[in-house]
Amino acid sequence: MPELPEVETVRRGLTRLVGGATIDHVDVIYEKMVSPAPAEFKQQLAGVTIDQIDRRGKYLLFRFDNGMTMVSHLRMEGKYDVQPEGAPLTKHTHVVFHLTDGRELRYTDTRKFGRMNLVKNGAELQVAGLKTIGPEPTPDTLTFDYMKQIFNKSKKVIKPFLLDQSNIAGLGNIYVDETLWMTRINPEQPANTLTDFQIRFLRENILKELSKAIDGHGTTVHSFSTAFGNAGEFQNQLNVYGREGEPCVRCGAELQKTKVAQRGTHYCPRCQVLKKKPSQTVVLGLTGGIATGKSSVATVFHDRDIPVIDADQVAREVVEPDSLALSQIAATFGTAMIQPDGTLDRHRLGQRVFNDEDELDKLNAITSPAIHKAVKKQVAAYRRKHTPLVVFDAPTLFEGDYAYDVDVIMVVALDTAAQLQRLMARDNMSEADARSRINSQLPLAEKINVADIVVDNGGSIDKTKAQVVEWLNKLHLVD
Ligand SMILES: [Zn+2]
Repeated sequence: MPELPEVETVRRGLTRLVGGATIDHVDVIYEKMVSPAPAEFKQQLAGVTIDQIDRRGKYLLFRFDNGMTMVSHLRMEGKYDVQPEGAPLTKHTHVVFHLTDGRELRYTDTRKFGRMNLVKNGAELQVAGLKTIGPEPTPDTLTFDYMKQIFNKSKKVIKPFLLDQSNIAGLGNIYVDETLWMTRINPEQPANTLTDFQIRFLRENILKELSKAIDGHGTTVHSFSTAFGNAGEFQNQLNVYGREGEPCVRCGAELQKTKVAQRGTHYCPRCQVLKKKPSQTVVLGLTGGIATGKSSVATVFHDRDIPVIDADQVAREVVEPDSLALSQIAATFGTAMIQPDGTLDRHRLGQRVFNDEDELDKLNAITSPAIHKAVKKQVAAYRRKHTPLVVFDAPTLFEGDYAYDVDVIMVVALDTAAQLQRLMARDNMSEADARSRINSQLPLAEKINVADIVVDNGGSIDKTKAQVVEWLNKLHLVD
């Protein structure tokens, strides 16, 4: 079924193709498709000019110069195309608008579910479906206050709740699955259990996803194509819809497909856990590439007394003298790894694991669970205190498998040339060494791809900090 972005693409295509065109006469081949009855429908449209084409939700509104509006819904498979007069009709062509300029605007629909209602301007709001339609998903019409109000009073499961056009106009199966994945909300989470942060974040993601989809010319599913025959390109950018069995790009878990309210539903079982009562504490994962300037972003949080859990510090703490991890290191790599004062001999251990992947894997198998456990414990303590925002500062947020466990991911980004310059200057490295250090990490582009917030650190430090503050304000994470 075409979704809002595709219908918007159709609207733009039709505006370009037939905006300002005049209808000579109309052929109605499948009579049930139009209202009023074909005789009146044809009579009303003879000689009128298409002033403009609007859209409300997934409905197209053709505005004519005789004060009438035609409400057109494409349903499952409907599409418009423009052909020269006399070109052969297909067996699925149901309505033909003959234009005075020798072209024909044709409506085809393999399933015959589409409908066209011709009404007086203004009366379109009485057409079934438009009568109860919710606000358009634009920044001005879909407000947080509205969303909070409708979410709080509904115990309905979120997936069908969002598909219900009377709540929000234009969200279909694809974009509901995508935006729930982006917001880490389980499709069966009841609407009234969402926190204010989740509602805000969901709103941002709906707005972002739909505008991105409209820019990308819509998604192509089944036989749908745009008004001018171009296939959409956006489907390649979907992260969860239609990807069951593939790894989640954020956390690596296998994406699942299930049925929620009779609709095929795609989700990540690890990122989108059903929660009895979602936590009020928001955990922001902060990461970047090497030398992209993550530490200067961290100062924004330190300056505001927002707690920061430093992954590197946790990694040092878990191998402190007498720790379980340290005794496991001694058992695996030898007691020579422990210095006389009981501390870890980092230099010696580094020599052992630095150029040997198997040895490094053994070390990670010891330290990684210990670090995860320590981080979870710290986060749990903040959750108990209802701390609104906690930052988890982790250079290896993705590589270390923490991404599934944070609520929002901020990636500090820099273009490769600038990153190279900064790394060479900072660590006094040759260009070749700096390049190989950068290449040894997960590519920054992949991190940016799954980031919720990308902070561009290519300008002044003040500009970088301003971006961070803007995002914190947008999601109401600071006062
Ligand atoms: Zn995931």
